[in-house]
Amino acid sequence: MTAPLDLLDLSELLSDEERDIRDLVRRVADDRVRPQVAEWYEQGTVPVRDLAREFGKLGLLGMHLEGYGCVGASAVQYGLACMELEAADSGVRSLVSVQGSLAMFALHAYGSDEQKQRWLPGMAAGELIGCFGLTEPDHGSDPANMSTRARRDGDDWVLTGGKMWITNAPVADVAVIWARADEGVYGFAVPADTPGFAAREIRHKMSLRASSTGEITLDEVRLPGSARLPGARGLKAPLSCLTEARFGIIWGALGAARDCLHTAIDYATSREQFGRPIAGFQLTQAKLADMALELQKGFLLALHLGRRRDAAGALRPEQVSVGKLNNVREAIAIARQCRTILGGNGISGEYPVMRHANNLESVLTYEGTSEIHQLVIGQALTGLNAFAG
Ligand SMILES: Cc1cc2nc3c(=O)[nH]c(=O)nc-3n(C[C@H](O)[C@H](O)[C@H](O)COP(=O)(O)OP(=O)(O)OC[C@H]3O[C@@H](n4cnc5c(N)ncnc54)[C@H](O)[C@@H]3O)c2cc1C
Repeated sequence: MTAPLDLLDLSELLSDEERDIRDLVRRVADDRVRPQVAEWYEQGTVPVRDLAREFGKLGLLGMHLEGYGCVGASAVQYGLACMELEAADSGVRSLVSVQGSLAMFALHAYGSDEQKQRWLPGMAAGELIGCFGLTEPDHGSDPANMSTRARRDGDDWVLTGGKMWITNAPVADVAVIWARADEGVYGFAVPADTPGFAAREIRHKMSLRASSTGEITLDEVRLPGSARLPGARGLKAPLSCLTEARFGIIWGALGAARDCLHTAIDYATSREQFGRPIAGFQLTQAKLADMALELQKGFLLALHLGRRRDAAGALRPEQVSVGKLNNVREAIAIARQCRTILGGNGISGEYPVMRHANNLESVLTYEGTSEIHQLVIGQALTGLNAFAG
């Protein structure tokens, strides 16, 4: 039997070093996450700090950044790590994405040297946890209209407002908060013990349950002038961080899909109905073949974008949108299709498929919904902005 990603020998497109990183992260995910993640998911908890320390030791936090304890990996290496983590669980990959691509990237790209020295080495080591607060209760896809305000008071800044659906917020040591000042949108590094800052865990999630998600309230949070990220001016700063995180998702979603397909093939070859394995039915094989096709096309797309990014230094937002829209959409379709192959067992937590499918509902929504990515691509194709109607 050929593994789905081996049909086209796609591993041959990777260097030895890339394969080594992929295999290392796969082993860690298999040893450290996979055996316990179904229980974390069921209980709606995850040991963020323990995992962060372990991932930090391996250099997985902010792994594509340079200096300050970060390992300076390539985009493809970072993508492969995301894929292997998400093959275990999207929530665990989210922990790493938010820490490295959102919170650390924001500090790295827009912070002062003092802010970088203060936060980044501890975050790279997994000793300090960061979160990234852009979304608000009333402003998700449209952050330009954010309500959170930053007011100058002498040399200080005072933040008032609230952020919603913020990954890692309840456990964070530092929150990168985006707020509107008279001059435009600014970013702030807010220590979580600042008076007026509070983060509560959002309960009753039916998706991404092995991830800590919080609601932040900012009640007259007074910060020194040095807490503002000096390089961040306007909404393009947080949007550039989202482009970073979206890149990891392009790869990560494929990991979840791959795990579903592996599970479905294993199941279908051993489960018998009508006196033969269900994998022997043509309808099952048609499903498996179609899913393997999409998985490989998604991998080629991710690899192309990764190679472009490593060569050019950056991707255009619409290029990242092509990757995120396609790979998450196909991953969730694969997860749902695999669930049908498992029949009744498909809805059981004994198998990872329903967990991945449910997780991918969040992945479809965060870092820009599918509709928002369609609009980004549509704008690139037509030159017309259709966001507001
Ligand atoms: C588990 C989880 C973790 C998250 N983590 C973070 C985090 O760490 N930091 C952070 O800042 N945010 C985070 N988010 C928030 C996430 O980015 C938002 O939920 C997302 O941007 C969508 O915003 P919204 O939920 O307000 O939906 P809305 O913006 O209200 O959208 C609702 C629907 O309307 C559609 N829509 C909106 N505008 C348009 C339009 N112009 N044209 C067509 N359709 C449109 C959307 O596509 C969607 O289908 C997280 C979300 C989840 C679920």
